[in-house]
Amino acid sequence: MKQYDLIVVGTGGANIVVDAAQKKSLKIAQIEKGKFGGTCLTRGCIPTKVMVTAANAIQEIEEFKHIGVHTSEPTLDWDFMSKRVWHMINESNDIYEYYNAFPNIDVYRGAATFVSDKVMKVHMNDGTESEEITAPIIVLGTGGHSNIPNVPGLKDAGYLSSESLFGDKYPKKPYKSLAILGAGPIGSEFAHVFDSAGTNVTIIQRNVRLVPKEDADASEHLLKNYKARGINVLLNQTTEEVRLENGEKVVVTKDRTTGEITETRVEEILIATGIKPSVEELHLENTNIEQHPGGWIKTNEFLETSVDGIYAMGDVNGEPAFRHRANYEADIIAHNLFYAETPEDYRWARYDVLPMVTFSYPEIGHVGLTEEEAIKAGYNVGTGKNYYSSTAKGFAMGITPDSINNGFIKIVVDKDTNNILGVHVTGPQASILFQPYVNLMNSGETALKAINEDIGSARTKELRAKGLIRQMDPHSVITIGETMSPHPSLSELAMWTQVFYENRW
Ligand SMILES: Cc1cc2nc3c(=O)[nH]c(=O)nc-3n(C[C@H](O)[C@H](O)[C@H](O)COP(=O)(O)OP(=O)(O)OC[C@H]3O[C@@H](n4cnc5c(N)ncnc54)[C@H](O)[C@@H]3O)c2cc1C
Repeated sequence: MKQYDLIVVGTGGANIVVDAAQKKSLKIAQIEKGKFGGTCLTRGCIPTKVMVTAANAIQEIEEFKHIGVHTSEPTLDWDFMSKRVWHMINESNDIYEYYNAFPNIDVYRGAATFVSDKVMKVHMNDGTESEEITAPIIVLGTGGHSNIPNVPGLKDAGYLSSESLFGDKYPKKPYKSLAILGAGPIGSEFAHVFDSAGTNVTIIQRNVRLVPKEDADASEHLLKNYKARGINVLLNQTTEEVRLENGEKVVVTKDRTTGEITETRVEEILIATGIKPSVEELHLENTNIEQHPGGWIKTNEFLETSVDGIYAMGDVNGEPAFRHRANYEADIIAHNLFYAETPEDYRWARYDVLPMVTFSYPEIGHVGLTEEEAIKAGYNVGTGKNYYSSTAKGFAMGITPDSINNGFIKIVVDKDTNNILGVHVTGPQASILFQPYVNLMNSGETALKAINEDIGSARTKELRAKGLIRQMDPHSVITIGETMSPHPSLSELAMWTQVFYENRW
């Protein structure tokens, strides 16, 4: 059996752990069954944001008339944009080359499977099987993939997911018409992109709201804007059936309250109804790793699983699916494994300061609790709202109180303490506007708070017993480095300066 110091499965956020171990000259097995760089680079955040940025420009040009600038009608050059999309996706090859060049890293291209708790083998993509490998530390960063609903006729009619859209089904030109099933962040972003490209888009959503995890006022604002653009939005629907008719795909939906049936005829269907964890090939049944319902791997605040020495980070552990969250967790694992010496050095994860952005148009971003959640949690809740139109810059941008794009910031406060519980922004550049609040909420004293307390190595039990408090000094560049910023947003430009600072030493 081949012995390593560290096995890392998945090459998304988990690469941060590989990078740290590589600096320590450890013997590493890095395993990836798909494209290097993971979901974000090859079929997620990055290619979609190349598309979204072009789509934003189309919408912004439409708004220029409000400030006295006139142009001819803008069009999206699909070929040009697609070349930029694939340029980024193909950076995956460079990532593979980069890791493969290190003598202390063995790169396995295939699917990792557990034989027992600390023993794995790899079903290589070339059809062979690796010898058994083992390591005292294993990091699972296997991510997630589209959860395809079981709708009669869907499989026969054919559909797209983010995997096939950024794979063998990437369209040579925008579809004439597209039904998007699901209106979380991914569905809402694709609706914006394809509508801007001239596609006739219909959103089919089970919930009564678009982006239901966002503040209710923000999703209302998005709905108003999407309808005004001519996007057809069907809320509160169950999808009953899909059938092929005269070369078209017919999506049959039923209103969950009235029972009214609607038939939507489209060229293509895109499924964006959520993700499930990529655990199938790991064969966790051969281990003592516990899972939540739905298959997500159960982890604690140190990202430990129920097997000592095995960690799970990113989408596979079921916390909100964002690349900056995966990076944050990988950073914590790497820091604790390779740099922490005294108990006070250890870092732990907290999710109440996780920024979340939907790159729709208008953009939506938030950190912390919604008004609804704060009330449910028993706080004495106060809210404040400020509209873009009430600022000089908003006026300069042509936004007036009755503009359709008159977005807002909404702050949710605990009236008993004046503490900020949540901040929600919708409108231009929302993704960067709430960053100061993320930094504020992440600063100060942070007490170690157990997550899934039943999981804990001997060291974790010791750290919990100490009642550790971490001082997040708001003046320190280290605090900036340990504060999440939404990916990919221009906040990263300001926040990642710490990386350059650290490299000076
Ligand atoms: C369309 C879309 C848009 C998105 N937009 C954003 C956004 O704007 N901002 C944002 O923050 N997040 C966004 N996300 C979410 C983000 O991409 C994910 O949260 C993030 O990539 C998860 O990182 P990860 O490290 O957990 O896993 P991944 O990046 O998914 O990496 C997991 C890797 O593990 C590999 N793997 C799985 N099982 C095995 C196995 N058994 N053996 C070997 N390899 C295995 C997979 O091939 C994959 O490459 C988007 C996602 C999608 C689908």
